[in-house]
Amino acid sequence: MSDTLSQREQYRKLIDTLNRYAKAYYVDDEPLVPDAEYDRLYRELELLEQSNLDLNDPDSPTKRVGGAPLSAFESVQHKVPLMSMGDIFNHQELIEFNQRMLNAINVPEVEYCAEPKLDGLAVSLIYQDGLLVQAATRGDGRVGENITENVKTIKAIPLRLTGDHVPSYLDVRGEVIMTRDGFKKWNENALKTGGKVFANPRNAAAGSLRQLDPKITAKRPLSFFAYYVGQCEGYDLPEDQYHRLLELKKFGLPVNPNIKLVNGLNGLKAFYDDILARRQTLNYDIDGVVLKVNSLPIQEQLGFTAKVPRWAIAYKFPPEEMMTKLLDVIFQVGRTGAITPVAKLNPVYVGGVTVSSATLHNEDEIRRLDLMIGDMVIVRRAGDVIPQISGVVKEKRDGTQKEIVFPTVCPECGSAIERVEGEAVARCTGGLVCHAQLRESILHYVSRDALDLEGFGDRIVEQLVSTHKLNSIADIYTLTQDDLASLVLDAGDETKKTRLLGNVVAKKLIAAIDRSRVIPLNRFIYALGIREVGASTARTLATHFETLDDLIKASYSKLLQLPDIGPIVAKHIFDFFREKHNLEIIERLVKKDDGFLFSAGIELTPLKQATSDDAKAAPLLNQTFVITGTLASMDRNEAKNRLLDLGAKVSGSVSKKTTALICGEDAGSKLTKAQELSIRIIYEEEFLQMLKDLEGKE
Ligand code: NAD
Repeated sequence: MSDTLSQREQYRKLIDTLNRYAKAYYVDDEPLVPDAEYDRLYRELELLEQSNLDLNDPDSPTKRVGGAPLSAFESVQHKVPLMSMGDIFNHQELIEFNQRMLNAINVPEVEYCAEPKLDGLAVSLIYQDGLLVQAATRGDGRVGENITENVKTIKAIPLRLTGDHVPSYLDVRGEVIMTRDGFKKWNENALKTGGKVFANPRNAAAGSLRQLDPKITAKRPLSFFAYYVGQCEGYDLPEDQYHRLLELKKFGLPVNPNIKLVNGLNGLKAFYDDILARRQTLNYDIDGVVLKVNSLPIQEQLGFTAKVPRWAIAYKFPPEEMMTKLLDVIFQVGRTGAITPVAKLNPVYVGGVTVSSATLHNEDEIRRLDLMIGDMVIVRRAGDVIPQISGVVKEKRDGTQKEIVFPTVCPECGSAIERVEGEAVARCTGGLVCHAQLRESILHYVSRDALDLEGFGDRIVEQLVSTHKLNSIADIYTLTQDDLASLVLDAGDETKKTRLLGNVVAKKLIAAIDRSRVIPLNRFIYALGIREVGASTARTLATHFETLDDLIKASYSKLLQLPDIGPIVAKHIFDFFREKHNLEIIERLVKKDDGFLFSAGIELTPLKQATSDDAKAAPLLNQTFVITGTLASMDRNEAKNRLLDLGAKVSGSVSKKTTALICGEDAGSKLTKAQELSIRIIYEEEFLQMLKDLEGKE
């Protein structure tokens, strides 16, 4: 008895929690927990109801569709209800679904219309004699909200159907979505201007659509795909889902290009795998695939339960958002003294990898998220984008959470931390005194795009700095083989054992140092670690100043005249060469014509001049390339450098200004974008030929 009672209590608790989550998600467009958490509790509830038939409360979310419509909008009664959909999460459940279909309709193999499951907001559009007369949300499935004026602002939705002959009445259903690009831009802007930041594109789409002022909706980057016909009069539509969708296209309604007719279980599996693999290349979020029995007569035969069609299922993808605990926040010090808070997380599997830490960027981000140590947080990882904390699950707070205290002194050297007004980043003022800044600046100097000192990894540099063998980058050239061979390193595993670096490795390191004594000017400029001077800016500087001396002497206004160098970067460069200790270090490094005694003897080779006067040296001047995918014959860095050597610009993202996309294997979203914008695509073979022709090599 007491067992049943506790089970009933557990049941009520689950219902109340899920109903609260559903209201926040469907009505307020502000989810309290990630979908994966909602789905987990929902499944628990389903299992309870199945195991005990007395547990059958009428307000259980298993008996309802969506959420109640907002009273701020006029209500709309749906003539044909908008249903929800059953969902499955693994291949075993897919086998069971297909078997259910086979059992019910007695055919050897079922034909399905397979579609991406768009992660947006369901709407019903009513066209009367071809004219859009009403648009409504799903609401609770029977009554939705009238959002006609808002929907009219979405450019993808035709206000009038196209074609000579259109239905006299058409109720078409589809999903309003926000594109990923649009979402990113929106949030970036909101962060700058203090506007509303959305948790994900779905919430952004829902929140944008349910605005009382359509002018606000009009400003949001919304789009639409149609996926179902609720009702049609005065027109003979085909008797299957796939061809119905093709017919909708003829009326000017957008239909997702990835829909496909597939057969049987193998067809379903292959479709799921294919869409999952291409998920990140799409410019909108999807959270799975929807698999629909294609034939309408068979759909009718199968019918509906109270809530979902029996002939369709949503097969969900592994989640890109998960909930986990924030264990601690540590503060890392970078090369330029920037202090970056990093979240240490209870490891969580999300977006295909286990995540145990995530950058929190800066203090403002912590305040914006209203984050506390011990909080349950939402970790989002989509594609190969670095994991982010996208929100805090406030309702999981139990009083044990602790405030995050931003340090006032550098955690590594104890120097004061300053935050310049107008800048988001806090910095350690320790300069060269700061162990962390020294270590990071040395790691930068030895990195691949800089002096490329192979073998100087994190642990070796850390040891050299903490044993004071390196007090500046110039000290690298005073290291002896003995200094290196006698370094004591920990084994880097759980054994806590230590080992000597030894002569063999030490010899290799010394050889790497020797090799670096002749280096192109641009790489040396980059290696100096001037704030905001990346490899490409360093190249610009090396192109315009023949020698390092010329650059050191350059005036602020001269720097400002260079392409792609704005006032802030120009000031960083100018200031860098006014610092006495920077000049001293350069003096110790670079070989002077007079053979300065203590110099490390680095010889700087000038970069080929890339000016329009010399079209031979810079045949790709004023052309911008983007590289994507894996090239078989060289890594991306080499491809980039060779393009740069030919005078080209290399950018990280495709835009209308891109001259061509260099495309290797397993290309992702950049390829899709280039195709959309009709940008020229150069595959590897052609790329190699192009380099050969332009570089004038055999
Ligand atoms: P659903 O989102 O799982 O599936 C039904 C919906 O899929 C349809 O209404 C339609 O909008 C959409 N859809 C997308 N592409 C489609 C296509 N090609 N064909 C047909 N429909 C397509 O079901 P639901 O009832 O809308 O919502 C349940 C889901 O919402 C849960 O699984 C959960 O992930 C999420 N949810 C989350 C919270 C939360 O707190 N995070 C709360 C409630 C619900």
